[in-house]
Amino acid sequence: MLSIYIHIPFCIRKCSYCDFNSFEENPPLDNGYVELLLKELEIRSKTLEKTEVPTLYFGGGTPSLLAPAQISALIKAVADKFTLQKNAEITLEANPGTVTAESLDGYLAAGVNRLSIGVQSLDDRQLSLLGRIHTADDARKAFAMSRSAGFANIGIDLIHSLPGQTLEEWQSTLCQAIAMKPQHISAYGLSVEEGTPFARMKADGALSLPEEELTAEMFELTSSTLCSGGYEHYEISNFSLPGYRSRHNQIYWERKSYLGLGAGAHSFLRLPGFGCRWENPPLLKEYEAAVRSGETPAPSPLSEHDAMSEFMFLGLRRLDGVDRADFAGQFGMSLEKAFPDAVIRACKNGLLLSEGTNLKLSSKGLLLANIVMSEFV
Ligand code: SF4
Repeated sequence: MLSIYIHIPFCIRKCSYCDFNSFEENPPLDNGYVELLLKELEIRSKTLEKTEVPTLYFGGGTPSLLAPAQISALIKAVADKFTLQKNAEITLEANPGTVTAESLDGYLAAGVNRLSIGVQSLDDRQLSLLGRIHTADDARKAFAMSRSAGFANIGIDLIHSLPGQTLEEWQSTLCQAIAMKPQHISAYGLSVEEGTPFARMKADGALSLPEEELTAEMFELTSSTLCSGGYEHYEISNFSLPGYRSRHNQIYWERKSYLGLGAGAHSFLRLPGFGCRWENPPLLKEYEAAVRSGETPAPSPLSEHDAMSEFMFLGLRRLDGVDRADFAGQFGMSLEKAFPDAVIRACKNGLLLSEGTNLKLSSKGLLLANIVMSEFV
């Protein structure tokens, strides 16, 4: 099985916190990028087995800048080169400032069956600070239009720990989000990344970020509020109604194979050996040159240690944790033997705990997940 990720690296305007691989561009996106994606798909399909595709994900950037006909052409090409499973999860990330009732109807007709809407906040002051192109009302309208179009599976993305944000303001966004009844909610803490306008503002002392303690309170409030609202906390930053976990993202956390198409997209194949990874050139010109010449990046094999580390820091993101039997099955040795000091230290410090054959983050470990993960690198 092979999941597929398609990267659309264009946005109407860069948000102040964003370090994703995306470039400013206005619709219609008739810049030849979709043709490059189709060509790359053709090149890659020649070297990969014609296998089943359980999930297809359009991420960005802003995939909702593409016209439904372009999305349809890409879905058809995937179905033609591989075997798109009948019940495949096909997700499209949508920016509330770019969708219309007509485009949403078109995406559904093209085969998209899951939307991930970048709401980020339901507070106009915070949205403007983030440099988003939409208001809270635009986000509510985009959500309502998506439902009216017939999307039964909708996720929304939110960000907390924003500059100047209070606990009450975050709770208000969470409660409004629950009232919208999405099937899935991703809630990330803001991280200030190098090279972004926020990083420059931080360096100039012009960004008042919440203290660590408040960030931890926001994380705990997210979990308690969403869980009381009927959502299952199944990954550090992800919550879903029963039966609506993101199937695509689980592929990443479970180290299953996926093919990434587009500028800067990453790919991973579980076999041969301990698996291999590669990354496409992030810049459009370089990506175009690679695709046109047919010289796309070659897979680079992982060492046993790299593969074991990945197993741990990806698997521990899930609240179920990692399965010791699965680890032993993949690497022929016990998890305790591979990481003796790390496991003992994290358990002794109350950051990891055993449950049946699984090893998982404790509530304290969830707050300090980065520290726990770094033990396994
Ligand atoms: S819309 Fe998303 S990808 Fe585009 S600039 Fe904003 S955060 Fe980045």
